[in-house]
Amino acid sequence: MPSATSILSVRDLHVTFSTPRGPLYAVQGISFDLGEGETMGLVGESGSGKSTLALGILRLLPLNGKWTAKSISVMGQDVVSMSERDLNSAVRWTKLAYVPQASQNALDPLYRVGDQFVETVAAHAKVEREDVLKKAGTLLEQVGVDPAKLQSYPWELSGGQKQRVMIAMALILEPKIVILDEPTTALDTIIQAQILELFKQMRSFQKLSSIFISHDISVISNIADRVGVMYAGSLVEMASVSDIFKNPIHPYTQGLRESVPDVRKNKPISFIPGTPPDMVNPPPGCRFHPRCPYVQEVCKKSDPPLLPYPGDHYAACHFAERWVKQ
Ligand code: SF4
Repeated sequence: MPSATSILSVRDLHVTFSTPRGPLYAVQGISFDLGEGETMGLVGESGSGKSTLALGILRLLPLNGKWTAKSISVMGQDVVSMSERDLNSAVRWTKLAYVPQASQNALDPLYRVGDQFVETVAAHAKVEREDVLKKAGTLLEQVGVDPAKLQSYPWELSGGQKQRVMIAMALILEPKIVILDEPTTALDTIIQAQILELFKQMRSFQKLSSIFISHDISVISNIADRVGVMYAGSLVEMASVSDIFKNPIHPYTQGLRESVPDVRKNKPISFIPGTPPDMVNPPPGCRFHPRCPYVQEVCKKSDPPLLPYPGDHYAACHFAERWVKQ
């Protein structure tokens, strides 16, 4: 999936965790490009590998995690062979920032918000404390939080305020790329809508490229230019947000789309039967085959590659042609 103005390019990324039951294949050979100014939505069920993909790109895996990749290029710089120290000073937070899942809980309850901004910056760059606090105050204002909250402890803030603080913190060193991992999941629908709107404003204000991770395809439809659909550690479909909704090719994407309730149509809510596979012992062939309504013998033996179709649309299904709109 090449992009003429790619700002983040990932080739053949694999992440495996060692577990007492054997290796768990969490991310399997993922390649993609993120264009400059683009927001790519990453959608899939819990456990499909979305967060692990983000942590693999940033090399922030837990100790039992191992990664390999042909290349990971951040703003033209290949980070695969970079030392941990160089990655920390030259890439993490300065070029590529990450807002973690459950980020409201990522703030340390024992430290004031301002101190946590200072600590974050000190881990990646040499900047005077007063300068950090001044900039943090400006960012808080931009995300709709009173700069006086720099003096507050996290437990004095609401869930929505904490999420806004985390977005501001991700932007403190002016990265060009931000990965937001389920940033609206723990919030009520009104705050969720406010955070999405805020992110849209920040994205154009700061000229950001971003990856927006969510298990909720309707949230992704609100925010993304392009969508990658993950299933069992692999990208099974990638296309513009309108194609993913209007002309999904992969049966898993079709199931995700059908599972979105539509209050205007009086149709029962449908769901994808079964559960995601055990990634220590994944099924052979197409990993979606035990749940797929269109499964054939070939699907149980051969893993379909991600192939291009008209309109910059990619899908991994042996029978993709059936659903390709000409
Ligand atoms: Fe379904 Fe077969 Fe396509 Fe997999 S390859 S999604 S099992 S039709």
